[in-house]
Amino acid sequence: MATLEIHDLHVSVEAENGPREILRGVDLTVKQGETHAIMGPNGSGKSTLAYSLAGHPKYTVTGGTVTLDGEDVLAMSVDERARAGVFLAMQYPVEVPGVSVSNFLRTSATAIRGEAPKLRTWVKEVKEAMARLQMDPAFAERNVNEGFSGGEKKRHEILQLELLKPKIAILDETDSGLDVDALRIVSEGVNRVRESGEIGTLLITHYTRILRYIKPDYVHVFAAGRIAESGGPELADKLEAEGYEAYVKGGATL
Ligand code: ADP
Ligand code: MG
Ligand code: MG
Repeated sequence: MATLEIHDLHVSVEAENGPREILRGVDLTVKQGETHAIMGPNGSGKSTLAYSLAGHPKYTVTGGTVTLDGEDVLAMSVDERARAGVFLAMQYPVEVPGVSVSNFLRTSATAIRGEAPKLRTWVKEVKEAMARLQMDPAFAERNVNEGFSGGEKKRHEILQLELLKPKIAILDETDSGLDVDALRIVSEGVNRVRESGEIGTLLITHYTRILRYIKPDYVHVFAAGRIAESGGPELADKLEAEGYEAYVKGGATL
């Protein structure tokens, strides 16, 4: 079983007046088969954690370690991380001009599997996965993220998850901008992948809404660049009732 271990992670970004520390000592272990929800106020550094794990060049790791089964993730390139099985669904996915969804998925699958999937079985796999997400087959021929609605972007993320089968998936604000029907379809997609038992999920969200559909094993409260509290699903209920005030009081915000 794959294990992602984050230990005392410190990350800075380059701001106008010099580097600014955003992550201030994050400790977290995610195992395949587990679902961890990371919840917290806006600006607490949740997306910074996601980007840092994926290897976004804007974020500089200034301390701590991240390992996947003991392998140093921080020493890996973005591609190597993907190949090792770490997947990030972006909060604001970028447009990839001139590349169709179908080609993008096949290129990603090739990079991750180390060989190109057989065309015929691949086309079938994509079709079936799209049908499960109630996506129009014509979607496969559209350019990645070009004019995608919020819901289409999210479905595209989950489509990648179903097809690329990462060991550890980081889903950042997967629920933002979804109406209730789309939220249900997207959540069912995540749950299908979870049921395989072969994926560890880091579900990052500001709202408790998605946790009605995707039941986490662990809930962590993120505040001021670190995990302020960890618990079981009951912690999400407490946050729903009480909000984040207790965690941001006393100047705990960045
Ligand atoms: P969250 O996802 O919890 O809302 P973020 O990780 O997006 O929080 O942001 C945490 C803090 O880091 C915010 O104050 C944000 O303005 C700052 N920040 C994040 N990324 C950058 C960046 N690339 N450049 C400058 N500041 C950034
Ligand atoms: Mg934010
Ligand atoms: Mg964010």
